[in-house]
Amino acid sequence: MLQFKGKGVYSAIAIGAASLFKRQEAQVRRKHVQDTQAEIERVESAKQKAIDQLSRIYEKALKEVGETNAQIFEIHMMMLEDDDYNESIQNIITTQTVNAEYAVAVTADNFSEMFAAMDDAYMQARAADVKDISNRLIACLGDKGDTSNGGTEKMIVIADDLAPSETVSLDKDRVLAFVTAGGSSNSHTAILARNMNIPAVIGVGDEILQAVKDGQTVVVNGYTGEITVDPDPEFIAQAKAKQEDDLHKKALLQELKGKPNVTLDGTSVNVYANIGGVDGIGAVLANDAGGIGLFRSEFLYLESSDYPTEEEQFRAYKRVLESMAGKKVIIRTLDIGADKQIDYFKLEKEDNPALGFRAIRICLTRPQIFETQLRALFRASVYGELGIMFPMITSVSELEKIKQACDKVKRDLADEGIPFAENVEIGIMIETPAAAVISDRLAPMVDFFSVGTNDLTQYTLACDRQNAALEQFVDTHHEAILRLIEMSAKNAHANGAWIGICGELAADLSLTETFLRMGIDELSVSPPFVLPLRDKIRSLDLSK
Ligand code: PEP
Ligand code: MG
Repeated sequence: MLQFKGKGVYSAIAIGAASLFKRQEAQVRRKHVQDTQAEIERVESAKQKAIDQLSRIYEKALKEVGETNAQIFEIHMMMLEDDDYNESIQNIITTQTVNAEYAVAVTADNFSEMFAAMDDAYMQARAADVKDISNRLIACLGDKGDTSNGGTEKMIVIADDLAPSETVSLDKDRVLAFVTAGGSSNSHTAILARNMNIPAVIGVGDEILQAVKDGQTVVVNGYTGEITVDPDPEFIAQAKAKQEDDLHKKALLQELKGKPNVTLDGTSVNVYANIGGVDGIGAVLANDAGGIGLFRSEFLYLESSDYPTEEEQFRAYKRVLESMAGKKVIIRTLDIGADKQIDYFKLEKEDNPALGFRAIRICLTRPQIFETQLRALFRASVYGELGIMFPMITSVSELEKIKQACDKVKRDLADEGIPFAENVEIGIMIETPAAAVISDRLAPMVDFFSVGTNDLTQYTLACDRQNAALEQFVDTHHEAILRLIEMSAKNAHANGAWIGICGELAADLSLTETFLRMGIDELSVSPPFVLPLRDKIRSLDLSK
């Protein structure tokens, strides 16, 4: 029995088999082979397995994200059967007498460069797809052709770290828990783990990557951050008892469904949920959230291999609004950059990405991208109760430009005879100290503020949220952060705006009373935290 310790970011217990996360590109080596025919046959059987996997993923995507989004997997299956692609692999194997993995990797490079050099944007976007299918093919080759483990067994994913895009592309039905060697609790991977409602422990240290083998039994304790490898039967029995206890508590929380979020002295507060995509709506409804306080729209971009079109975005926003049936839905405009990188944006490499070209800075300097998103949002606004929120605001002039862009889009839609709602609320994130300090100037220009405590913490305490080594310096209850939130709340209310919190701190039950005493109107948390937060609010008495 071996033990490791990290930081739990979602409190639950998982027991299962380890699966070490592999980045396939790094593993390809050029090797000479004698029997080229055997290599070609390996490619053939790997291809069949890859196609089987893709058709299962296609079926799953069809159910979860709809036909338009699922189509990409059909295209991937067709690309795997493409004659030119297969001929190239075979030629490289036979002429260079090399292994199949190498031939696939070289073909992937050649084809993706060829696509990237084309004029047509659609064809350019295929570059990422060729890489994607080739990585899958290499995975099938390397894993004796069976990356799916032949079944649907859930695994505990152990990785050095996971980029948000890698997290998104994991088969969520097969992930029992995340364990990462690096990472910090405010990273987007941690946020995704919370949203996915699965135990996660981060910052465990690199030793775990050497110590654990695929298939070994692991117990992940998301409460304490403890990881136990090869636990003895007594330890497993204790972990199972704790799991059952959790299930019992969850059942009790279900009884809170439908009850109002009101303190004992009658103060009420909205409890909303944060989601990263359309497939999160089920969890919002299942946990009885009063609305969506943060829809991270960038995941539409992260899940796509090219800029999502106005039509694609419109359909996604419409679906969220319709599913929420008149409850408030706050969609945040694109917040890309920093840890959320997307190849097709072709952003310059930066020395300090967190202080760099991200979020509203990209939108204001690439108006075409911004306008496409705003048009989709305003068009969707007639299907529900929409609020639009803008990230990373630091100045009045940014907000003026944003409002001009909104006005232009509304004028254009009116000219084209396309309907949009007049009552769309406009809000900004308070996630830079600058925005909090000038919140008296910003409040008269908006309907609401939403405090992004994840970034507000990183910028106020000068601690990169991606840097796990800084965890010891990150005091999320720091007086400076609480004062900035309180200042923003006073300025919002003095100017007739409402204020919510959508950063991870909104779910910190030890601060709920503090936030309510500040007059915070809304708390938006990952769906699994909605009911525990309701329970906490209903136990408070602010009259004391
Ligand atoms: C935040 O910064 O608190 C926030 C909610 O936004 P994100 O975590 O997506 O940066
Ligand atoms: Mg943020």
